[in-house]
Amino acid sequence: MFLGGKRPLDQSARALNTMLRVCLAQRMRRTQNCKIAFKRRTNCAPVPAEKTPTGCKCVRNRVRRAAPKSRPSPRAGVPIVYIFRRANNSPIRADGAYTARVTRPKRHALAIELTAYCNQKCGYCYNDFRENPAEIGSLSKQDLLRLVDRALTEVEFDHVTLTGGEPFARPEIFDILEIIARHKSRAIIISNGGIITAEHAQRLATLPVVFVQITLNGPSAPLHEEHVGQGCFEPTLRGIRTLLEHNVGVSGSIVVTRKNARSVADILTVFRELGVVDIALSRFSPAGYATSHIAELLPSRSDLVAALTLAEPFGKNGMHIQVTLPVPPCVIDTHDYPHITFSSCPIGTEAQEFALGPRGELRHCTLHTDVIGNPQTTSFAQLVTSPQVAHYRDVTPEFCAPCPMKASCIGGCGASAQAVFGTREVDPIVAQHVNDSFASALSNARKGMEAFIPANQLVRRTFNQSRA
Ligand code: SF4
Ligand code: SF4
Repeated sequence: MFLGGKRPLDQSARALNTMLRVCLAQRMRRTQNCKIAFKRRTNCAPVPAEKTPTGCKCVRNRVRRAAPKSRPSPRAGVPIVYIFRRANNSPIRADGAYTARVTRPKRHALAIELTAYCNQKCGYCYNDFRENPAEIGSLSKQDLLRLVDRALTEVEFDHVTLTGGEPFARPEIFDILEIIARHKSRAIIISNGGIITAEHAQRLATLPVVFVQITLNGPSAPLHEEHVGQGCFEPTLRGIRTLLEHNVGVSGSIVVTRKNARSVADILTVFRELGVVDIALSRFSPAGYATSHIAELLPSRSDLVAALTLAEPFGKNGMHIQVTLPVPPCVIDTHDYPHITFSSCPIGTEAQEFALGPRGELRHCTLHTDVIGNPQTTSFAQLVTSPQVAHYRDVTPEFCAPCPMKASCIGGCGASAQAVFGTREVDPIVAQHVNDSFASALSNARKGMEAFIPANQLVRRTFNQSRA
């Protein structure tokens, strides 16, 4: 899941953005056309071609050339390289430890799913392994720590997100935080808060934890527990208070569903009273286990409009509210909510948050089940720069072909589309309003007439039947 984000650009900003990209491309090709785009920019007047050995005429380039030269570093011009160990793809030494020189890519984040186990069973849980966590198991302590250390050595991640399952269910969370500290990186922890103790909070306060993100789906026990299970509301509130008492940052999260969209203001009030002002206003995204509850929980456009309308005044009054799963602009005009930040799917960009699964597999994100590769046999650097990642954005749903927002939106959340339909179709949040057969299947399921079986559940059933 993507935590950082940008507002979609308005028309003039888009035009400028396109111009800049064209100009950049032209500069790369050293052509004269660059002048045309840059002429339109007030701070980028054209200059005579003969003064610009590269053929580029923008002011920015002149400023760069005119700047006094600082003493070049002995490593100037040398690509950043590092030495790392790999498992069993060549070259390998007989003792299993060997080295290779590779450039170190920079990426936004790595979400590490420490365990498949969780003390709650939330209806909106996007983990594919939620159904049978025991079957999935988890890596041994030694393998897990080695992988995390290698990930941070081989790729420069802005931060690491520790998640699960419930990450505090795994005591090694503190060993991992020590590794993150050693690499001078930082961590975000996604937890349900229910098993956090004062001892946890004390230790977290000494480690590089930006915040712990905890979800509330209702302002009181009945609505919250309708989403996550009986007896979970008070432990979650206790977890939040304990962290705050020990000066550990807490960020709130609300998963907007059909059931709680109209209670968003009340939930935000609870967060504000607790002293939590950074909020991830996530919206239900049917992937993994959550697809079984799609009819019950998928919010409609009107539900989303209601939730955002309720949240906007809180944003205006100082809370930082960010919608962390994409809401495609064909569903919601994000300009109506100027105090809420929106994001789009970051896969294939430098803002991507990769997921390292409980069995050690690397995936596109926490919602995706597609495996990019096995970092136990291939370097993280190779995996995050693989063609599978680079070409992810080349595929967009047929429905989106004429859409001017296609390049940034790419059809919304591809992981949920794949989970529900079996292919990268348009996001179910859009499909429920444009795909008649899907809409009628959801409606029938809501009336109790016929259950809707999403593609991932169908695959699981077939697999289980074949094993029986
Ligand atoms: S790309 Fe597709 S989902 Fe996104 S705004 Fe356009 S039509 Fe909607
Ligand atoms: S596929 Fe969905 S969950 Fe994954 S990064 Fe894209 S928008 Fe986020």
